Amino acid sequence: MPGTRQPVAKLLLFGATGDLAQRMLLPSLYGLHADGLLPEALTITGTARAEHDDADYQKFAEKALKQFLPEDRKDADKIKSFLHRLGYQPHDASDVEGYKTLAEKVGDVSGGLAIFLSTAPSLFEPVIKGLATAGLAGETVRIGLEKPLGYDLASSREINDTVATAFSEDRTFRIDHYLGKETVQNIMALRFGNSFFEPIWNAQGIDNIQITIAETVGLEDRASYYDGAGALRDMVANHMLQLLALVAMEAPAKFDGAAIRDEKAKVFRSMRPIAPDQVPANTVTGQYGAGAVKGEIVKGYIDELGQPSTTETFVAIKAHVDNWRWQGVPFYLRTGKRMTTRRSEIAIQFKPVPHSMFRNRGGLLQPNVLVIRLQPEEYIQILMMAKEPGLDREGIRLRELPLNLSLDAAFAGKPRRIAYERLLLDLIEGDQTLFVRRDEVEAQWEWIDAIRAGWTANDTKPKSYPSGSWGPSAAIALTERDGVTWQDD
Ligand code: NAP
Repeated sequence: MPGTRQPVAKLLLFGATGDLAQRMLLPSLYGLHADGLLPEALTITGTARAEHDDADYQKFAEKALKQFLPEDRKDADKIKSFLHRLGYQPHDASDVEGYKTLAEKVGDVSGGLAIFLSTAPSLFEPVIKGLATAGLAGETVRIGLEKPLGYDLASSREINDTVATAFSEDRTFRIDHYLGKETVQNIMALRFGNSFFEPIWNAQGIDNIQITIAETVGLEDRASYYDGAGALRDMVANHMLQLLALVAMEAPAKFDGAAIRDEKAKVFRSMRPIAPDQVPANTVTGQYGAGAVKGEIVKGYIDELGQPSTTETFVAIKAHVDNWRWQGVPFYLRTGKRMTTRRSEIAIQFKPVPHSMFRNRGGLLQPNVLVIRLQPEEYIQILMMAKEPGLDREGIRLRELPLNLSLDAAFAGKPRRIAYERLLLDLIEGDQTLFVRRDEVEAQWEWIDAIRAGWTANDTKPKSYPSGSWGPSAAIALTERDGVTWQDD
């Protein structure tokens, strides 16, 4: 069973009453159930401290489904049959002794058990110990871990070491939900399923790469977690570096967990460490002040938090991958809260043509840009030069036009699955391809820790930026110094 791609017979969900469970996990499991993708006999046991019996929890889950499922996915019969799969055991995860009762509720695990930890990382240690003592960590059991997996290399190693005492790497599934997104997987289809990008997908063909994850929301109800984390740890250390790796990696020989993760890990290990004296020139941090987002007046971070803080809600970084393919190509990363618009996007800016034959006739050229939009829309677009119709008597007019591949439109008839559907199914079936391996996580933290050390050494404080903007003006200067403009429209 371990490491093999066999479906398990049982699922145990920690944090079963939490926000993630209600908004994502239960609706995703239902979606898989409704489409007949879950093993026929799969049972799902939820656990958290709240006192519920099975019937109560089924009601709780029904309410979550009613609230969070899109209307067209609600089917009364299917909801009813899904709820039959659910059971519940109240349990305090920090009580290592109490796991016996949980194990009794789960019952025989010889047919395979997948555990999903949707709880605070501070509970990982007692959970692992408790599971091991109660016989819920044997060879037939695999475990899925939600982020954050630590807050630096040392704490991440500690978590990984603890997990490794009970679960081998081939039974450990570290979740980065970005990898469950269709458009993210499409980066691989685009690069390795088409022949014409590869010859120019390198320092000879590409001028720079920009990765943006912009949110319009502020703190929401994540204040205590977010203020201790900040944008670098919350977004860059995982999602943005995973995107960077998929864009920068060499072609894996096969679509499988080992081949793809080997190539991503090589990228992380090739990232140029940013030394403390280089940090001020290569990073910008910001914190949102008051402003207006989409016409709505919003408070600044400190007012929202209710106390002083130097946590960054925005970060921009100029990164390099020091290998043959990418020598000299800057990767500009940028993420922030309370930005102008919600957008996750990768923009690949190609080199200009070596010589413009149109210049003497007034024609202006822009370098080609490939835009991979991940959110909120899903499309791939190539900005290409075209000639405007006309007799050209006043000069040749050239215009940048988009060549569009709209995934939303092309696959309009196909159900679009949320990332957790894919990831939960892969966990249940034992496919690790879209989960993050330990060496990847640790190489990511090593690079991130150097930046944080640089901020400490330079006493870096985030610059204020108005809510509803693209961050502090220093972020614009970060690219403009290199003659590069952020792809903002
Ligand atoms: P949450 O709403 O605070 O829920 C936490 C869950 O854990 C609840 O079911 C809670 O139920 C349970 N819990 C807390 N202390 C417990 C204990 N001592 N023993 C047993 N159960 C306990 O958190 P969440 O937003 O669902 O997030 C869960 C995890 O996913 C966190 O690690 C978070 O960082 C991560 N995550 C969340 C999101 C998101 O969008 N929400 C996104 C990415 C990652 P009781 O209070 O009844 O025990």
